[in-house]
Amino acid sequence: MSGKEPNTEQIPTPIQSRQQDAVLYSLLQQLNESQWWSSKQLVRGQLHQLRRVVAYSILYSPFYRERFRNLDVNRLELENFRMLPILTRRDLQEYNDTIDCSQLPENHGKTSEIMTSGSTATPVKVRGTGLTSMLWNAINMREQLWHQRDHSRIMAAIRWHSDPIGLAPAGIEFEDWGMPINQFYKTGLGFYLNSSADIADQLRWLQKIKPAYLMSHPSNLMALLREAQRQAIKFPELREVRTVGETVTDELRQLAQVEFNAHLVDFYSTQEVGYIAIQCPLNEHYHIQSESVLVEVVREDGSACESNEVGKILVTSLRNYATPLIRYDIGDYGEMGEACSCGRSLPVLRRIHGRVRNMLQLPDGNKRWPNFGFAKFMEIAPLRQFQVVQRRLDLIELKLVVDEKLSAEQEAGIKQVLITRLGHPFAVEITYHEVIARTAGGKYEDFVSMISVN
Ligand SMILES: [Zn+2]
Repeated sequence: MSGKEPNTEQIPTPIQSRQQDAVLYSLLQQLNESQWWSSKQLVRGQLHQLRRVVAYSILYSPFYRERFRNLDVNRLELENFRMLPILTRRDLQEYNDTIDCSQLPENHGKTSEIMTSGSTATPVKVRGTGLTSMLWNAINMREQLWHQRDHSRIMAAIRWHSDPIGLAPAGIEFEDWGMPINQFYKTGLGFYLNSSADIADQLRWLQKIKPAYLMSHPSNLMALLREAQRQAIKFPELREVRTVGETVTDELRQLAQVEFNAHLVDFYSTQEVGYIAIQCPLNEHYHIQSESVLVEVVREDGSACESNEVGKILVTSLRNYATPLIRYDIGDYGEMGEACSCGRSLPVLRRIHGRVRNMLQLPDGNKRWPNFGFAKFMEIAPLRQFQVVQRRLDLIELKLVVDEKLSAEQEAGIKQVLITRLGHPFAVEITYHEVIARTAGGKYEDFVSMISVN
């Protein structure tokens, strides 16, 4: 199928007539067209970009010159691309200086350095460019358009920050929603609260601000929903919750709908590669941002997964010529999906399954995304917080924060639910804690594996 679908999104004209606004506007127009291209056109466009970035890397990156020494770029097709070696976080750490290109095309703008510990707590340094940050802004705007937000309303974000800013109880008030949205819309107020605030403080803050849009991390949002439910607090102004940085479960989507009467919109991005996929306006799955990244989902042996098969996510950045990331193992798992009913041929990422170190390992060597049915736990006993820790191949520790210690019967019931959900008869030990701390990266993980997977 080729013909272009009717364009539903109206791109607003930038408020000012600065050059950077004009460039962003034109990029946004291009994105608005390419989302309706046929799959064939999209793949052709990607292949063109891929050959360019690979050729450039061979010329200017000592690491890739060596790595791709036998590669004929002119004959690079997706089939032989998929045979190229995978770039690990370990490679990025070890060969950092030789991966970076020694020079940049002039129109790519200034470079900037990004240091991120990522989802596997393995710090890496990556350089971005003016072009990659322009793309970041354009896709951010695409996401705004897809989800047709009312920008005159109030937006609040409760997110992690590397610095102790926006602390409770006040947080920070901004006069608008920030870049790049304020380049196109005169927006309502924006508010920020550091997610280090405890949940009771967060709720009080939200009650004062009354946002229409709330952005947060899934685990934080889940805790907010639970506490709001417990205290019977409602937020009638709320229309949408946006999530970032962790796995979103069906349970979280449902609870947001039931408790906050809000639609949940998730997006998948990382600091190293920018936006990878954003949620479809009509469905709960994600569209890969193919104009910026090429995404593969592969098995442990490197072969491509089928649709609906969980595998490792590999990302190739098609526009970053400063630190080329080619078949980069980002540390997450996911599943590709079927073509989308909305008519966009940007490939569908059906689910994103968090992090490698959060995979459950079975004694037979298999790994599995752990599912443990928090809702079921709550039917047995009221829990404040919990964390599942895989201590050994055969031993799971369930850490609990509770008001009242559980009875032997409740403990047995919860253990049974856990074993059933995990799908293996692990030994389970329940331990009690005052609080379960966040990781050094500021995220709270509900499943932690102590078994090394590297
Ligand atoms: Zn769609």
